[in-house]
Amino acid sequence: LSLANKIAAGEVVERPASVVKELLENAIDAQATQIDITIKESGIQSIRVVDNGTGIEEEDIDKAFGRHATSKINNDYDLFHIRTLGFRGEALASISSVSRVTMKTCTDGMLGHEVQVENGEIIKRQPAKAKKGTDILVKDLFYNTPARLKYVKSLYTELGKITDIVNRMAMSHPNISFNLVSDDKNVLSTNGSGKTNEVMAEIYGMKIAKDLVEIKGETDDYVMNGFVCKPEHTRSNRHYISIFINGRYIKNFVLNKAIIEGYHTLLPIGRYPIAYINIEMDPILVDVNVHPTKLEVRLSKEQLLYDLINNKIKEAFRGLSL
Ligand code: ADP
Ligand code: MG
Repeated sequence: LSLANKIAAGEVVERPASVVKELLENAIDAQATQIDITIKESGIQSIRVVDNGTGIEEEDIDKAFGRHATSKINNDYDLFHIRTLGFRGEALASISSVSRVTMKTCTDGMLGHEVQVENGEIIKRQPAKAKKGTDILVKDLFYNTPARLKYVKSLYTELGKITDIVNRMAMSHPNISFNLVSDDKNVLSTNGSGKTNEVMAEIYGMKIAKDLVEIKGETDDYVMNGFVCKPEHTRSNRHYISIFINGRYIKNFVLNKAIIEGYHTLLPIGRYPIAYINIEMDPILVDVNVHPTKLEVRLSKEQLLYDLINNKIKEAFRGLSL
């Protein structure tokens, strides 16, 4: 395995949660409506993602594990423009160079193919009976990159990162039914009903189900929708606020503040809301230069968006008092 390959892999596959994120994005891009994720030891021992998407044609399997010569994306503008989640064409190549991968894939629900990949090379392939879709098993993550393995934090921390990824994917794709099982324990099941508030209740607890208030609004540049939880359910940190732009999870200080301030005096000191917001906008208004990997973005006309979100939340909770 070349050093260049290992370095490239390190950029895509920083930790177990990065593998989960890439595999979920692939399943979503393949139009899956059902995605089952099973992890052992926070993904270090194994990560399995089964989807009912399109599957991969036999002749495309090699290409899927190779590094694409050209990328579908050239700049940050494209990142929020492109509606498929995958674009670099190197996730499977990277993952399979730092783990042992077995993939079964089938395009018609009859005869599919199973491949085993090690050090980025397909070492075994055979026809296999399979359901339509793709079943990918990633074992022994970082077995050949001990430095990377050492960098992995506690199993508890890594499980938290994986759960965050799956939660966000489930919130922004309420039409897909997600199941996450960790060491034989069921962590999340969503029903694919298309309702983000139902997904939020699955994630944050059924107690909040009846207290999620829908908000909607638009300006010339933005279409915003979301669910904000009534202030009787608060949390001790900002982690329960999720913001998406064109369906992609982002971090942005100003929009976070727009949400928190929207509750105005309704939040006790040191308490934060549970909230989900998605904003559709022309990608030209998003600047991801700040931190491409951390998804911290800066927005043009941020103040207008601040006001929109802030006002809609105030409207939703008008009349309530602490
Ligand atoms: P990218 O998603 O950036 O194209 P990946 O390395 O993640 O690159 O995947 C390579 C290719 O393999 C994808 O473009 C897709 O054609 C195919 N592929 C990967 N995972 C799946 C899946 N679960 N279902 C169908 N096709 C898949
Ligand atoms: Mg991909």
